[in-house]
Amino acid sequence: MLIAFALLIIAAIYWRPRSFPSLSPAGPDAESAVAHLCEHAGVPDRDWRYVVIHHSATGSGGAAAFERYHVYVQKWDSLGYDFVIGNGTQTGDGEIEVGPRWRSQREGAHAGVAEYNDRGIGICLVGDFNVHTPTERQMSSLRLLADCLIQRYEIPPERVIGHRNCTGAATDCPGRRFPLTELRASLHGDLRTGAGHGAPVAPAAPSR
Ligand SMILES: [Zn+2]
Repeated sequence: MLIAFALLIIAAIYWRPRSFPSLSPAGPDAESAVAHLCEHAGVPDRDWRYVVIHHSATGSGGAAAFERYHVYVQKWDSLGYDFVIGNGTQTGDGEIEVGPRWRSQREGAHAGVAEYNDRGIGICLVGDFNVHTPTERQMSSLRLLADCLIQRYEIPPERVIGHRNCTGAATDCPGRRFPLTELRASLHGDLRTGAGHGAPVAPAAPSR
């Protein structure tokens, strides 16, 4: 009886959903709200060189659910992505959640390739983009977030890539229907010449 009670307490502690700082950007202040969400006070910036886009390949989800999977199944110590953008299932449509790795500027666990985990900011959009496309609100939040990050870290839009574009990654993530070309074209104009650090990378390989 006592043992069962103790196990219940332990289970409750470990399965308690963790809350992540989040924001559903909208209105004229959306840009500054997203910039504020990305702050990590007191922690020096990592040397970020890529933004790596993922899909969850699931119909529903959010940072809490993905973190449970990453911790209990993958045996990582926390959510592998830096940011998660919801689709209105477990979190709001277009809601941006910030993971603990971003706040402590740790390397990611999302690309399966060291270079892109060490230097790539991992953003996961909830959805299966082999089957459908991201929602308008997801894309609008992603544009705001990616714009903020590439300006801050001087990352040229060519280095906003899909997971499948990471050299050495064997995946179709973020899905055949994810509009990467349109996303890049809509990002901040000043950086489109590749004026940031690092040479532009070759165009994305076609989806498999
Ligand atoms: Zn991925």
